[in-house]
Amino acid sequence: MNKILIANWKANPTTPEEALDLFDSYLSAISDFRDIRLVVCSPFLYLEELYKQLQATKNKPETISLGAQDLFWEKSGPYTGEISAEMLKEFAISHVLVGHSDRRYKMGESNEIINKKIKAALEAGITPVLLVGERNLGDDRRAVLEQQLAADLSGLSADQVTKILITYEPVWAISTQPGAKSDTPESALGAIGIIKNFLDSRFQFLASSFLYGGSVNKTNVVDFLKHPEISGAVVGGASLRKEEFTNILKQISLY
Ligand code: PEP
Repeated sequence: MNKILIANWKANPTTPEEALDLFDSYLSAISDFRDIRLVVCSPFLYLEELYKQLQATKNKPETISLGAQDLFWEKSGPYTGEISAEMLKEFAISHVLVGHSDRRYKMGESNEIINKKIKAALEAGITPVLLVGERNLGDDRRAVLEQQLAADLSGLSADQVTKILITYEPVWAISTQPGAKSDTPESALGAIGIIKNFLDSRFQFLASSFLYGGSVNKTNVVDFLKHPEISGAVVGGASLRKEEFTNILKQISLY
């Protein structure tokens, strides 16, 4: 199965040694599963070491690359604490997460900011992974998705939107939420249908590639990814557990 997995480490692990060790386990595993594209979104601080490790790997798999969890929209200047797309290019960053619910709701990131970040990533040739989804189970999903997409994609051309990997990630399904459980594949497909119709009506293009995120693990990954409309997954918690993550890779490749 030719699918993409985005590992979102969030603010983990806490030491560079652990980060290198986890990355090493990915490097060993991925060589067995060459039909899976893997993007590792580590904290900024570890990117340089991981990049060096990737460069030093013999028979470096083409199917693994580094991603960032965030970026700033200006190239440089008086923006204390920020990291620009320009800086990230140094480490051959292929993808960047934008609009993650941690940033929307814990850091107060607005749709306007998300929109600027998407534009900056596209300009730098980095693929934005845009995460959209409702906050609580039972929220008006269509309204939330349409409102987020309209604002986040504002001012972009259809051609630019085709370069974005849109991920349906319901916040209530993220494993660190109290009482979280993954969405059902049927319900996720319904959400993807809403996203698809929105893109069709707003940008007149029939997108076919979407990701799902929210408590993906070795037991449910194939249930989602076996559907052609779901071309991959964003994996948080399970990506920090070596054995679990290797099993996710295995399940996908066995399918
Ligand atoms: C996430 O927060 O992006 C995510 C997918 O987390 P988890 O897999 O832990 O639900």
